[in-house]
Amino acid sequence: MSEALFRLQRDIPVEQGYDLVVAGGGPAGVAAAVCAARLGIRVLLVEATGTMGGMGTSGLVTAFDPMANGERMLVGGLMKEIVETMYMRGYMSPGIDPNCWRKDFHKWSPFRVEGYKRVLDDIVVQAGVEVRFFTRLIDVHVDSGNRKVHGVVIHNIEGYRYISAKTFVDSTGDAVLADLCGATCREAGRDTQHIMPATLPSLFTNIDWEKKSAVVEQKGVEVRQAIQDGHFTQPDPFLVGMSKVGDNVGYLNGGHLFNLNALRVRDLTDGIMFGRKIAEEYLHFYRKYIPGCENLEHVTTASLIGVRESRRVVGEYELGIDDYTAKREFPDQIGVFNKFVDVHPYDCSEEAYRIHLEEKSKRYLLKPGEYFGIPYGVLVPRGWDNLWVAGRCASSDVLVHGSIRVQPACSMMGQAAGTAAAQSIRTGRPAYELDTEELVHTLREADAFLPQVRLSRSMTRQ
Ligand SMILES: Cc1cc2nc3c(=O)[nH]c(=O)nc-3n(C[C@H](O)[C@H](O)[C@H](O)COP(=O)(O)OP(=O)(O)OC[C@H]3O[C@@H](n4cnc5c(N)ncnc54)[C@H](O)[C@@H]3O)c2cc1C
Repeated sequence: MSEALFRLQRDIPVEQGYDLVVAGGGPAGVAAAVCAARLGIRVLLVEATGTMGGMGTSGLVTAFDPMANGERMLVGGLMKEIVETMYMRGYMSPGIDPNCWRKDFHKWSPFRVEGYKRVLDDIVVQAGVEVRFFTRLIDVHVDSGNRKVHGVVIHNIEGYRYISAKTFVDSTGDAVLADLCGATCREAGRDTQHIMPATLPSLFTNIDWEKKSAVVEQKGVEVRQAIQDGHFTQPDPFLVGMSKVGDNVGYLNGGHLFNLNALRVRDLTDGIMFGRKIAEEYLHFYRKYIPGCENLEHVTTASLIGVRESRRVVGEYELGIDDYTAKREFPDQIGVFNKFVDVHPYDCSEEAYRIHLEEKSKRYLLKPGEYFGIPYGVLVPRGWDNLWVAGRCASSDVLVHGSIRVQPACSMMGQAAGTAAAQSIRTGRPAYELDTEELVHTLREADAFLPQVRLSRSMTRQ
C-alpha cells in the first residue's frame, strides 16, 4: 500500500435534531431503530444497501435460527412480532409449523426473502424511523477523552453529510462505527488464532422437494463421493445444506471461504468471486448427486458475503464460554438464548470437521428447557457514554459469539440497545451508568422474555 497521505478538507452540510443514529439495518439495527422510535425519540437509520435485514436479505441467509428451547419461546419482543407477522402474511416457507419458533428445540424457520423485506419496510415506516438506504457511515466526530460521540459523517449519492445526534448504535456487523470512534475491539485473525470462514449463500429453483430429503446432503455421503470424483475445486466435507424457502425454491448455505478477513477489501473482492465459482460447482453437484435436484436452476448468489466473524467490541461485559456452559443468568440480562456454539471449521480438513462436530454435540450444546443469559454490558463499549453496539459485533468471546451471532439473538440485542438509548436520553444517564432495572422493565413491557427474579440497578461488569 502507498505510504503517501492526502489530507481531505471540505465543508459539508450539517444535519441536526436526531436523538439516535443507528448504523446498519440488519436484524440488530432494525430492532434498535424501531424500538427506540416507538419510545418517542427521533431516529435515523443509515443502511449501505437498498434493503433492511442484513445477512437475512442481502446475504440470502433466509432462515431464522431457533427461538425456542423445546419448552417455550425465548425470543420475544420485535423478533417475535416480525416472525408472527411474516407467518400471517404468508412469508414463512410453505408448510412450516409455527411451533418451529414458538416451542421446538433447535428448529430453524426458513422464510421467503422478499416477504421479509416487505415486513421490515412496513415496520420501520410505521414506527416513524427515518431510513436512508444506499448510505454508508464513513467517519465520526468524537470526544475521545470523555468517550462521547458528537456526530457521524455519512455518504450517499447526494454527497457527504455530518449528522449530529444524542446517541448512536453500531449495528454494522463489523463494528465500523465503534472502531472509528476508537473503542477497543477484537479482530478475527489479529486477536484470535483463526478466522471463522465465511460463506456465499445462493437461491436455487426447480427443486422437487418430495424427492429431496432435507437432510440427505448433511450426512456427507454424496459430498465425499463428489470430492473423490474430483468434482470440487476445494475438498470441503462440510456442507450445511439446502433449506426449503418456496414451493420449489431452496436456499443453499454451502461452501466455505476460508481465511477470509472481512476487514480487508482484497479478501472481500477475491472471496466473493471464489464464492460465485464454488456456487456453480454446487449447482452441478446437486444436479448430479442429489435426488430431486436434477433440473436445478441457479437463481442468484447473495450480494453480501456471509461473514460469520470479523470484529467485536470489548464491552463492559465480555460474555464467555464459562457463562454459557454454566447457563449463567444475570440480573441485567436483556435476553436469554439456547442455540449451540456454532463455530465452523477453520479449514477443509477432515480433522477440522471432526473437531467441529465433536464440540458442537458434546461440549457446547444446551439441553431442551435450558438457556443462558445475555447481560446488558455486551452492548456497551467499555467506558463509552452514548454509544452502544448490537448484533454480530457485540462483546463476547469467539465461542459464545458462535451462538449469539444469529438473527434472533441479534434482534434481541438491537431491541435492548435502542431501548437503552431512549432511556439514556430521557434520564440523562450515560450508557455505562444506565439503570438496568428500569431497562429490564421496559423490555418486558415490550414482550421480551426476561425470567430473572432478582434485578439490579447497575449492570454486571467483569
Ligand atoms: C453463511 C451464514 C449463514 C447463517 N445462517 C443463519 C441462519 O440460518 N439463521 C440465523 O438466524 N442466522 C444465521 N446467520 C447469522 C446471521 O445472519 C448474522 O450473523 C446476523 O444477520 C447478524 O446481524 P447484524 O444485525 O449484527 O448484522 P448484519 O445482518 O450483517 O447487518 C449489518 C448491516 O449493516 C450494514 N452496514 C455495514 N456497514 C455499514 C456502514 N458503514 N454504513 C451503513 N450500513 C452498514 C450492512 O449493509 C448490513 O445490512 C448466518 C450467517 C452466515 C454468514
